[in-house]
Order: sequence, then C-alpha cells, then structure tokens
Amino acid sequence: MGFLNNDEDLGRVYQNTGIHFYRLRLNKRVRKEHICMNCGKTINKGSPSAYHSGLMEGKVYHYHDCWDCYQQSIMSNLSEENT
Ligand SMILES: [Zn+2]
Repeated sequence: MGFLNNDEDLGRVYQNTGIHFYRLRLNKRVRKEHICMNCGKTINKGSPSAYHSGLMEGKVYHYHDCWDCYQQSIMSNLSEENT
C-alpha cells in the first residue's frame, strides 16, 4: 500500500477510522517530475501520472503513480473483484 509517511503517528490515530476519503486525479501531463510510488521510476515532466490523495486512519496522504503502474492497478482491482 502506498502509505509510507508518518508511520510514527499511526498508533495514536489508528482508532480514528470514522473518516476516510480517497481521490484520484489523472494528469495528462505532470508539470514537474515525480517519483512513482510503486516502481520508483521517475515520471518525467510532461508525462501522464495518476495522482492519489486521501485520508486514511486520520492521516492525509498523496502520491503519484506512473501510467504503467496505474494501468496495472486497474487490472489487479478488476481481478480482485472476481475472486
Ligand atoms: Zn510506476
């Protein structure tokens, strides 16, 4: 799972599970370089990315996926629904 920051606070906020939100924004072209959270590849300026943001267990998180990883995540989500 792409939730790597602020691990130190997880114990304290773990009980506050009442509020979750999740947002996905598809960038046709990123305006600056990002690192893909999944594969660690650089998403070059001008390349597409999938920008995830949300709130999980009381913590805001956000990260970019490169387009390949985003496509793979769609495929794996679809196959999970069939199991
Ligand atoms: Zn990637």
